[in-house]
Amino acid sequence: MRNVIIIGSGCAGNTAAIYAARANLRPVVISGHEAGGQLSLTTLVENFPGFPEGIHGPELIENMKKQAQNFGAEYVHGAVLDTDFSTRPLRVNVEGAWIETRTVIIASGASARWLGLESEMKLIGHGVSSCATCDGFFYRNKKIMVIGGGDSAMEEANFLTRFGDEVTVVHRREEFRASKIMLDRARHNPKIKFLLNTVVEDIFDPSKDMVTGVRLRDLKTNRAWEQDIDGFFVAIGHIPNTKVFKGQIETDSDGYILSKGGARTNIPGVFHAGDVQDRVYRQAITASGAGCMAAIEAERYLEAEGL
Ligand code: NAP
Repeated sequence: MRNVIIIGSGCAGNTAAIYAARANLRPVVISGHEAGGQLSLTTLVENFPGFPEGIHGPELIENMKKQAQNFGAEYVHGAVLDTDFSTRPLRVNVEGAWIETRTVIIASGASARWLGLESEMKLIGHGVSSCATCDGFFYRNKKIMVIGGGDSAMEEANFLTRFGDEVTVVHRREEFRASKIMLDRARHNPKIKFLLNTVVEDIFDPSKDMVTGVRLRDLKTNRAWEQDIDGFFVAIGHIPNTKVFKGQIETDSDGYILSKGGARTNIPGVFHAGDVQDRVYRQAITASGAGCMAAIEAERYLEAEGL
């Protein structure tokens, strides 16, 4: 029987593990199929406090993990396949084996939605990004492309004009999901151009390990052409990793966990941390802060329940 199982090993999960381990709770972290979370997909992180020269995402994650392990946190490779929060103790199924626990911290994150191109996968972290806040700085005076027609795409495009010479928004339709105010802001920004009814067919050049251009297609005319770019930002939404909690943990219509205040979910003893609940900030530092909150709440819950 465990005191705390932490589901997810990104910033939120690792920080929860540091706090829970230092509280002598001997937490178990289930790494998940995207071990290390979103940070393990980025290169240099320049906005995590404490690193004036910046730190590489995978290194930051590895440091957090070591820090948690130094205090007794245990890491288990594999994914959570199922959960049962209807009984006490709570139960978590890791790769087919059920583990019993007094509390659970869900830090399973949200995965960026990608276009699904082979070249895109190869160039993630090398010119292809899903986070303008994280990577925009690297594209000073460069040509940037943003994919999507929602608020995220408009927000990212506007943000990226601080750095890039020109930002092209590519959207597959003429109608936008973005709110009028965000869309208007982007439309009035002289550095932003729009390519509508247009899709990206390929990104160049995986053989050079950098983004040099794209092949686009106009869906109305079927014309295909190539365009030089330096940075490719995909902003077509995120998918919160809550499938295995369906029917047990309350979520909004998009699958993000609904907070019941602090780090609490609708199930006593089950807490949330990080992007699995946060569709607004989605930063390494906010996820870490949320992990800290969840661990403190788990500790207090165990104490209050006399567990
Ligand atoms: P979203 O509203 O779901 O928009 C996703 C966009 O990506 C849509 O335009 C969609 O096109 C496009 N898309 C999806 N899959 C695609 C694919 N395979 N290929 C090409 N395009 C694809 O997602 P979001 O922009 O991330 O926003 C999510 C939520 O967060 C929204 O509720 C939004 O209002 C909110 N948000 C708010 C703010 C803010 O207020 N500051 C900022 C960011 C996000 P279609 O329209 O054709 O489906």
